[in-house]
Amino acid sequence: MTSSSSTSIDLSHTLERVNVLLPLPFGHAYTYAVPNNLLTEYPLKNGDFVSVPLGSREVYGVVWGGKVSDVAPEKIKFIISKINTPPMPESTRRFAEWVSRYNMASLGSVLKMLMSVPDALKPPRQIIAYSLHTKMPEIKMTPARLKIVEVLKGRDPLSAKAISELSDVSQSVVKGLFKIGALRRVNLPFQSIFETPNWESPGPTLNDEQALAAQKIRADVKKAQFTVNVLEGVPGSGKTEVYLEAICEALSQGKQALVLLPEIALGAQWFERFENRFGCAPAQWHSDLTQAKRRITWRAVATGAAKVVVGARSALFLPYQNLGVIIIDEEHDQSFKQEDGVIYNARDMAVVLANLSKIPITLVSATPSLESLQNVAQGRYKHFNLTDRYGGAQLPDISIIDMREDRPDPGKWLSPKLIEALRVTFDADEQALLFLNRRGYAPLTLCKGCGHRFQCPQCTAWLVEHRFIGRLLCHHCGYQVTPPQKCPSCDKEDQLFACGPGVERIAEEFMELFPEIRAEVAVSDNLHTPGQAQNLVHRMENREIDLVIGTQIVAKGYHFPYLTLVGVIDADVGLTGGDIRALERTYQLLYQVSGRAGRGDRPGRVLVQTYDPENAVMQALKNADHKNFIQTMTRDRERHHMPPFGRLAGVIISGKDEHAVDQGALNLARTAPHDHGIMTLGPAPAPLALLRGQHRRRFLVKANKEVNIQARIRSWLKATVIPRKVRVQLDIDPYSFL
Ligand code: ADP
Ligand code: ZN
Repeated sequence: MTSSSSTSIDLSHTLERVNVLLPLPFGHAYTYAVPNNLLTEYPLKNGDFVSVPLGSREVYGVVWGGKVSDVAPEKIKFIISKINTPPMPESTRRFAEWVSRYNMASLGSVLKMLMSVPDALKPPRQIIAYSLHTKMPEIKMTPARLKIVEVLKGRDPLSAKAISELSDVSQSVVKGLFKIGALRRVNLPFQSIFETPNWESPGPTLNDEQALAAQKIRADVKKAQFTVNVLEGVPGSGKTEVYLEAICEALSQGKQALVLLPEIALGAQWFERFENRFGCAPAQWHSDLTQAKRRITWRAVATGAAKVVVGARSALFLPYQNLGVIIIDEEHDQSFKQEDGVIYNARDMAVVLANLSKIPITLVSATPSLESLQNVAQGRYKHFNLTDRYGGAQLPDISIIDMREDRPDPGKWLSPKLIEALRVTFDADEQALLFLNRRGYAPLTLCKGCGHRFQCPQCTAWLVEHRFIGRLLCHHCGYQVTPPQKCPSCDKEDQLFACGPGVERIAEEFMELFPEIRAEVAVSDNLHTPGQAQNLVHRMENREIDLVIGTQIVAKGYHFPYLTLVGVIDADVGLTGGDIRALERTYQLLYQVSGRAGRGDRPGRVLVQTYDPENAVMQALKNADHKNFIQTMTRDRERHHMPPFGRLAGVIISGKDEHAVDQGALNLARTAPHDHGIMTLGPAPAPLALLRGQHRRRFLVKANKEVNIQARIRSWLKATVIPRKVRVQLDIDPYSFL
């Protein structure tokens, strides 16, 4: 903000000006003039929310600072008003700039994430309530009216909705009574729906390892200093109890806490646990919230009324007033990477936010990512390890089933050993989990007559049969068709053949073998809200379900004491494909799912079906040798100068017009960076060469650690002509190579 009130008579210098950043895909803020009242009565500061004209529209933005433009005074527009919302803190604004620079996204589009609910800037709606007039007019008393009068007698004013619920009379009768003067209207002040969690309520007594970690993290919160702690611990070791202590400390300082979870559906058990301990629910933030809930929550975070926020990655972009600690649970999880719009890694950006806010952050996982462990090895992050399950529960016994020897029946997927183990489990009145990371019935459908394969017309992908809903579905774009009677290629009837299994097919096979067992399929299609997840959790806890067949959605977090057997149907699913993290990720997922077994008094066991028992992943699982496995993977990455030893960036060129896309790729190839410390691979058709009707080509930029990869890419793109209608997307530190 400028503060110079110059003595020059040049008009352009007498107007006070400020920069306002708008939540639109612009790279910089725009300069506006400040009207008089905002100079004197309500002086503007950096971070204030304001509304400004943009073309014929009025939009909200944030006063941003920086050098203002000296455009002629007749061209400059005035700020319309200052919004009555707490300003965006300095640390948040620096965070936005950091995210924008690092991920090469426009500053305005980052602000858009921070202002995801523009309506929240409007003053909260007043609640209109009704009470009885002290002097009732003469009215005709119907039974319905009488009920309302009874409800309101001697009571504080109530909303029409509340009156209607209490009296069992419709709201229109309430409003009718108001019209004829029998009721009075009053405006009630807005009340936050968020309570402050009772952080003084005692938690469990921690064991030594837990106490050590909790003490250190609490001290960091107290000192308000930036530190990164990696909290590693076998599933069920009580990591959550440790970081709840850190949250208590933040609350005791009057500060806010943020917990990111990879899968918000997972939140169900988490929320209950939180509520049991602290007496109220935390604020939730995820894609399934209603618009009204979003508005209220955003505002409550901005005012500081919401103390603890638990959410998916986008919760990182809420306007915290006074953050005291950040927790990333399951920090290794890939879902923290946002893959469209502004592409960013929420875990990594959270570390940046913690740094800028001068607060500690804790990265929690049973299988921390190689990147985080490397930071530990180099002394940048601190490390805590919980080595045993809490309360003496044993870790499950993991064994590998070699599918080449223990063969299922033709066209079946469950090996005799796994079937036997299931039988023993149900006989002992225990629960089991079958894990297969494939939704639907079969990943590929083909025609037995001519070999025709059903493919998505808009994507380079097979259509996946979902038999429960009778559809062939594209998992990338949502395209769907009813499976046809006749093959569209050879016209023969009833020749369709399902190749390979998905969870629905495993369910079918299971139900033939165990018709009396109560089985349930759990996939993202039927389990994407906390409510749905809670329902499943309760039925598991009440033992109304004996077996869950699910994808990775059931691999994480859940704690079911009677679940003693986990069967992995196909451990090899994620191993192929040229992804640098394929092995690590498969290991993490299988380890995580195995951690669901035997969490209570009864010992658990895990059977892993594979055609590749010698694979490093299977060996590490069998021998419970996480350390060795990570070391091998780390050496491998180091040898190939892969992250975290080198840097990567994906460049994806896409568009409807294939020719233009190829032209763009060709132009980029000519100017691609290749010299000391940096090289560019590609262009190559992306594995998903067609996605939602868009043709896609990829480059992969690989650089030494010291190279400023963003700067190199920026000058590369600047020097290259890209055809119109061709989109260039940048993915710094890519996790997906599709
Ligand atoms: P993790 O997050 O490491 O998987 P949890 O925090 O979910 O482990 O703990 C597993 C179970 O053990 C939970 O039911 C939890 O309440 C319980 N637990 C953990 N630590 C303690 C403790 N110190 N005292 C009592 N119960 C504990
Ligand atoms: Zn598709």
